[in-house]
Amino acid sequence: MSVPLIQKIHVGAYLMKQRLQGKQRYPLVLMLEPLFRCNLACAGCGKIDYPDDILNRRLSVEECVGAAEECGAPIVSIAGGEPLLHKEMPKIVAELVKRRRFIYLCTNALLLEKKIDQFKPSPYLCFSIHLDGDRERHDKVVCQDGVYDKATAAIKAARAKGFRVNVNCTLFDGEQPEHVAHFLDSAMEMGVSGVTISPGYAYERAPDQQHFLKRSQTKQLFRDVFRYGKGKGWRLNQSALFLDFLAGNQTYHCTPWGNPTRNVFGWQKPCYLLGEGHVATFRELMDDTNWDLYGTGNYEKCADCMVHCGYEATAVNDTLSHPVKAMMAAMRGPKTDGPMAPEIALDKARPAEFVFERQLRHNMDKLTAEKDASAKTSSECRSSAA
Ligand code: SF4
Repeated sequence: MSVPLIQKIHVGAYLMKQRLQGKQRYPLVLMLEPLFRCNLACAGCGKIDYPDDILNRRLSVEECVGAAEECGAPIVSIAGGEPLLHKEMPKIVAELVKRRRFIYLCTNALLLEKKIDQFKPSPYLCFSIHLDGDRERHDKVVCQDGVYDKATAAIKAARAKGFRVNVNCTLFDGEQPEHVAHFLDSAMEMGVSGVTISPGYAYERAPDQQHFLKRSQTKQLFRDVFRYGKGKGWRLNQSALFLDFLAGNQTYHCTPWGNPTRNVFGWQKPCYLLGEGHVATFRELMDDTNWDLYGTGNYEKCADCMVHCGYEATAVNDTLSHPVKAMMAAMRGPKTDGPMAPEIALDKARPAEFVFERQLRHNMDKLTAEKDASAKTSSECRSSAA
């Protein structure tokens, strides 16, 4: 089973509660980025393009726990950057486990074997290890040889110590469906509890802009991959309707507030993939973001996005509203032939705004002001003690 029963019950109860309370917008997964620093520089990643002052910043244990409590999502996905570079990561995880949050610790696994004894196995903790394909493919995507071997050794070591392990797989342009299918077979043989599979988002700051999938390519690729998977019982860590959406059988709008992001700048507007501003509190993010400005059909930057952090929450809502449809999708698996569901029109989408430089300047100014304030406080303390 890719998701343990305790997690299904806990998350199901949370969702029913939100619905019974008539809430229109509520989070499902907190995307927590306690740092941006990474020990890899993958071509398809737009997350590490910051000056050292920012890459050296860390969210404290208190800030991480505070973010989880502020937002209340039952699942916390700890991403980054590379979370295992954060010295206090074991404490962050322990505090979140104590609060019965289901944690997916997303790691490239380069440091996992070295640090594994700092963590305790728990039904609330799952290591989500990045593997974007077989040895050749993964090492190419992460731009470094030997990473696949280290990651698969870490999977084995973590499983042997009783940890739950998941694989996080991102697909890019140029994938061969049979290779992806073969990779999923091999992930099953490694004994991982599940694979989270998703197309890459076209980060504007990613060094390689040539290999992101367009929407129509994504749908065809997933149809072809799922065709290979018929009857194989792949443990995919996503709802049946999200997988059906990837295969082009559902017309979904994204639910960006389903996966709010807290990082070293604050709460990121509007989603994990797009950074168009930050606010200080979760409430401000929910209440003050003009959500209508975003999503496929509304904004050019969202045109090709089919990523789980935007659409899994949509699929989960659809599951709650249409349980019979969801049950049928789970029983038969994603449909891999016939006409696809209508696509959202893109002609009225507002043009992309390129705000990275402006955001960066703003965040650097804030950082300098904080440093100055802290230096002033220390010097005042020193003079009053003298
Ligand atoms: S479609 Fe939604 S989830 Fe994807 S980038 Fe746009 S706002 Fe974010």
